[in-house]
Amino acid sequence: MKTYAEMSAELEQLAAHNDRLTAGLRAARAQIVDLKGDLQRVGDPPNSYATFLRRAEGTTVDVLHNGRRLRVATSAEIDLDELEPGTELRLNEALAAVEAVPPGDAGNVVVVVESLADTRVLVSVAPDDVRVLRRAGALHDEVLHPGDHVLVDLKAQLVLERIDRAEITDLVLEQVPDISFDQIGGLTEQIEAIRDAVELPFLQQDLYRDYGLRPPQGVLLYGPPGCGKTMIAKAVAHELVLRSAEVRGVSVSEALEHSAFLNVKGPELLNKYVGETERSIRLVFERAREKASAKHPVVIFFDEMEALFRTRGTGLSSDVETTIVPQLLAEIDGVEGLDNVIVIGASNREDMIDPAILRPGRLDVKIRVRRPDAESAREILGLYLGDSIPVREDREQLLDLATSEIYAEGPDSAFVRIEYTDGHAETLHFRDFVSGATLRNIVDRAKKYAVKEQLATGVAGVGSRHLHEAIAAEFSENEDMPSDSHPEEWARISGRRGRRIEAVVPLQGRDGRPGDSERPAHDQLIGEGA
Ligand code: ADP
Repeated sequence: MKTYAEMSAELEQLAAHNDRLTAGLRAARAQIVDLKGDLQRVGDPPNSYATFLRRAEGTTVDVLHNGRRLRVATSAEIDLDELEPGTELRLNEALAAVEAVPPGDAGNVVVVVESLADTRVLVSVAPDDVRVLRRAGALHDEVLHPGDHVLVDLKAQLVLERIDRAEITDLVLEQVPDISFDQIGGLTEQIEAIRDAVELPFLQQDLYRDYGLRPPQGVLLYGPPGCGKTMIAKAVAHELVLRSAEVRGVSVSEALEHSAFLNVKGPELLNKYVGETERSIRLVFERAREKASAKHPVVIFFDEMEALFRTRGTGLSSDVETTIVPQLLAEIDGVEGLDNVIVIGASNREDMIDPAILRPGRLDVKIRVRRPDAESAREILGLYLGDSIPVREDREQLLDLATSEIYAEGPDSAFVRIEYTDGHAETLHFRDFVSGATLRNIVDRAKKYAVKEQLATGVAGVGSRHLHEAIAAEFSENEDMPSDSHPEEWARISGRRGRRIEAVVPLQGRDGRPGDSERPAHDQLIGEGA
């Protein structure tokens, strides 16, 4: 027989054992629950996503799911009024929409061809692939312009987002610059010619129409760099704004606000937007039309025009360029409805511009902007050394001195000798390379010398010595100088195209500038009749 003590010890042991078992069982149970949970999760049917297209009957909606259109039910959690085309929906096992999630933010980027009157948009996916897509809800109020880049979901046939890129038209669009004709020295005839060509037809559009006159679509300013072509174009634009404000009885500030000067720099457009030049040109004209539609004058200025519109089929132009010229032609020809848009081109290689662009009805007014002669140069110097500038000698005398120094024909200013194969030779001087820009530089330099001197000695004013030194410095630094231009360029500059050049010999310049062993004489043939 077990004693009481023995039995209770055994009981205690059993109880402890029981507790361990219970704990073990509990742990096992928890484990089973976990496993069961896992099992259930693994066994859950996958959720899928679909794109909301439109509401259908009752609480059903049409969605695009895996490329197929489906009509699905929606759970009560979804607020149907909040759904916009393009919203992503999570579908449950039974393909009922249970949750709206933010739309995708990746996809294809394509170009808008046209916004249709309803919510549809014509886009170009690839050169031969234009499609009609619908706008996602977020885009309802957004203006989509042809040429805009947009993010699309091609499967859902939706335009999701406009992708902002620095648009070419924003880069070239300027307010009409505040430059007037009286800030331009010389060039009286040129200014008269362009005003005749542009202002009268612009300001008297109705009369022109009555008389069946077709206003010129455009003007080409051609001639060496730095001689005022850009200035003229800007002054024309400015004047048009002033005059049209007058005619239409609006304030100058209002007219200025709506006016536009589109400054298109040929090489920049070509390089920055490789492969997109035609599109850029189209955009420029489109923007111009948009701006001009309210009868405000718009000038499109093509600087260094030859870079864009080279003669086709010369071998000089690439395939890309051969499509650029027709694009511009189409735009200019379509200018009929563009009464308020004037195209001004500038070039120093007008011989390289595709002749089709210069034909009647296009840029048919051609104005040559020459290098300043001595008289014009004096005028230009005078503009920059105006009455308000402190001088230490008589202003008129200073201008005379500077002009005669710049236009001197002595050995001091001899710059280069051109030798022709026919035995002729001629010497070109500094004066043959002077431009408005050079003259301005000279005055600016002289002013800087004067400032320095005033600081050092207290004596104020520009003097003849400053001008003399400035001319010398400009002479030796002038960037048009032969070391960096080509003989053809020279021949053209001196109006001697078509003659065979034997050699271009740099000459001993002023101030001990070396006659130049490191400047090799060019031995070059200029294509006859080129
Ligand atoms: P282009 O367009 O012919 O290359 P710009 O009109 O841009 O030359 O001239 C460059 C700068 O040279 C002008 O901003 C101006 O400072 C000066 N300039 C050129 N020509 C003249 C001129 N005829 N009168 C006054 N300044 C001139």
